[in-house]
Amino acid sequence: MRLNAIPSVRSLALVCGLSLASALVVPAYAADAARPTALVIHGGAGVITRDQLSQADEAALRADLDRALDAGNAVLKNGGAALDAVSAAVQVLEDSPWFNAGKGAVFTADGTHELDAAIMEGHTRRAGAVAGVRTVRHPILLARAVMEHSPHVMLAGEGAERFADTRTELERVPNTWFDTPRRRQQLDAAREREQRQAAGENIPLPKGAYFGTVGAVALDQHGHIAVATSTGGMTNKRWGRVGDAPVIGGGTYASARCGISATGWGEFYLRSVAAHDVCARVELRGDPIAVAAEDVINRIIPAMGGDGGAIGLDDEGAIVMPFNTSGMYRGWIHPDGRRGTAVFREP
Ligand code: ASP
Repeated sequence: MRLNAIPSVRSLALVCGLSLASALVVPAYAADAARPTALVIHGGAGVITRDQLSQADEAALRADLDRALDAGNAVLKNGGAALDAVSAAVQVLEDSPWFNAGKGAVFTADGTHELDAAIMEGHTRRAGAVAGVRTVRHPILLARAVMEHSPHVMLAGEGAERFADTRTELERVPNTWFDTPRRRQQLDAAREREQRQAAGENIPLPKGAYFGTVGAVALDQHGHIAVATSTGGMTNKRWGRVGDAPVIGGGTYASARCGISATGWGEFYLRSVAAHDVCARVELRGDPIAVAAEDVINRIIPAMGGDGGAIGLDDEGAIVMPFNTSGMYRGWIHPDGRRGTAVFREP
C-alpha cells in the first residue's frame, strides 16, 4: 500500500510541478496566435510652453509623430517584429527637423553634431548602441547594425564611423547636413549665456537645455518587445559627452516583460540607471509598469535634481508616458486601437 502510494504522490507532485512550471513560462496567449500590438513613441521631454509653440508648428510636429506611428504600426499590423517597428518609427523621427535626432540634432560646443542611439530587443536581450557618430543619416540603423553584424554592443566616435564604412547599406551625409537654423539659435543663446556667466553674472542653467530626443517602444503580435532611442544629446555639449540614450539600462532598455525609452537630462538618467530600474521593478518585484515608471521618473529623478520623461510598455500592451517637465512630444497606439499624439499634460 505504502509502496504504491509513494509513486502516486510523486506523480501528483510531478504533475503539479509541471503545471506550475508551465503556468510560469507559458504566456497568457498561445505562442503563435496573433496578439494585440501596441506602440508608443516620443520626440523628447523638456521645458516648452504653449506660447512658445505656434499652432502651425504644433500641427507640423504632431503630423511627424503621426507619420512615425504609421511607419511602426504598419510593421506590427503585418505581423512584423517589434524590432523592425521601432527601427521604422525612429527613422521617421530622425528625418524630422522638429526633433533632436538625425536632421535637427542639437549642436555641440564646437558647432558640430555628435549623435547617440541604441536599440534593444527584450526577449533575446540583444542590444546595439553608438555614441558620438557624425556622418550616419540614421544612427538607429547603425546601432542595429552593431547589434546584428558585430560582436559588440556599443561603438563610439571614430571607431563607430569606421564600422559604418563596412556597412554599405547605411546612408552617409556630411555633418552639416544635420544643421537647422533653430538649433543654431539655441547654440548661440547657450554661448551667450556662458559668456555672461564667465563675466560674473549669475545665470542658472535653464532646465531643459536638452529637448527633442526621439524613441519608440513596440509590442508585436508574437508578444515581443523592442525599444529604440536616438538623440543629438544636449546643446553645447563638449569633450565627447555621451548621455543616457545610447547606454543600455540608462535611457534604453528592454526585457521580455517591459521596454523603456527615456528622454531628459541624461546625466540623471545615467546615475539612476532609469530605464533598467523601471523594468527591474516590473520584472523582479511584479510592480505594474505604471507604478514603476511613475516612481522612477516623477520621484527619483526629480529628487536627484534632474528632469525629463520616458515612454514604455509591458508585455500586455499597457502603455506609460510619465514626464515631470512642462511638455513631452509623444504618440501612442493602444492594443485596442485607440491612438493619439500630445505635447502638453492632458487632463
Ligand atoms: N537624454 C538626452 C541626453 O541627455 C537628451 C534628451 O532626452 O533630450 O543626451
